Amino acid sequence: MSEKTILQIAGLYKRFGDFTALHSIDLKVREGEFLAIVGPSGSGKTTLIRLFVGMDEPTDGTIWLRGQRIDTVPANKRPTCMVFQSLALFPHMTVGRNIEFPLKVAGVDPAQRRERALELLDLLRLPREYYAKRIHQCSGGERQRVALARALAFDPEILFFDEPLSALDFRLRKTLEKELKDLHARTGKTFVYITHSLEEAMAMSDRIAIMRAGRFEQIAPADEIYSRPVSRFVAEFMGEVNLFPVRADDDGVIRADGLALDPAVAARLGLHAGEAGTLMVRPENVAMVNRSDAGGAAPEITIGGHLRAEYNLGSRLQYEVEGPSGQRLTVETLRENRFGGAPGDAVTLGWTLDRCHVIHGD
Ligand code: ATP
Repeated sequence: MSEKTILQIAGLYKRFGDFTALHSIDLKVREGEFLAIVGPSGSGKTTLIRLFVGMDEPTDGTIWLRGQRIDTVPANKRPTCMVFQSLALFPHMTVGRNIEFPLKVAGVDPAQRRERALELLDLLRLPREYYAKRIHQCSGGERQRVALARALAFDPEILFFDEPLSALDFRLRKTLEKELKDLHARTGKTFVYITHSLEEAMAMSDRIAIMRAGRFEQIAPADEIYSRPVSRFVAEFMGEVNLFPVRADDDGVIRADGLALDPAVAARLGLHAGEAGTLMVRPENVAMVNRSDAGGAAPEITIGGHLRAEYNLGSRLQYEVEGPSGQRLTVETLRENRFGGAPGDAVTLGWTLDRCHVIHGD
């Protein structure tokens, strides 16, 4: 991926009557990047894509593609930004005809069209014989590949995807996730991918933009969003998490209800005097410290509680623990580290400072 910006938006607003769907959004997409835009239903993902490709107009703000303003350019005059829609294939036509369609519209001669369609079949790892096959004879996964080949036939500057895999079953979705990531790597194209599946975003993208109520809450690589979220919303959106309110008094003394926190450790949390925050630790970073074989580094932060339940997650086990003020805490461990306690048992949970993160002012 290059450091060059291919797509930039600044101060983008979209209002529908009294309702503001996008609130002054800024974003830079890098050339060759795979950017996933993730957010709950109604957060504004589709609205944003519609503005990018000219299916709708912003109320305010600017969109540039390679430094050229495009928000004032009508959709049919914009450099090609393709929205990938698998359902838009022509079912009665052959695979070849479908892929060639954009080339035909562009006036490319038949022999060249065919050659390009065959190359695209190769690129999507579909047998060349599929050229003559009809769409209704193709499986769901094959149709997705044909649709991708057709989208690439436009030779778009950027390929936008709006939940392309949401209607597919689990196995096919997993296969296509890998194929899309691979396709991205092989074409070097810029992909902007909308989904409300965090798993999909994590599996494929270089960066994830988390949307919430018409704003970007955080834009960063998946690992960073997972380990160092900027808000409770992002922390919880990214999966199971334990959150503890923490506060530094005006004299700098750290208060964290229920947590056993040595002052020397507390001082390293990075809270300023008078500041409030949230200490976050993911379940897989928490250990049951009263296990005889707890192992690992000595915990620097601990909390007592009572075991409530054990859940089997397949390769991992999850424990639900009730904290001192009745809060629900979660611990995850590999099967081989099974705790084996019974509901009601007193337990102590612990972790090291480098395994947790403080969300400031949240
Ligand atoms: P989903 O994941 O459910 O597709 P989304 O994040 O794509 O959701 P959008 O479709 O962008 O969300 O919608 C954002 C908000 O804007 C929603 O509250 C929606 O009801 C509203 N909205 C979208 N289009 C219109 C419209 N044409 N008129 C009025 N409100 C609209």
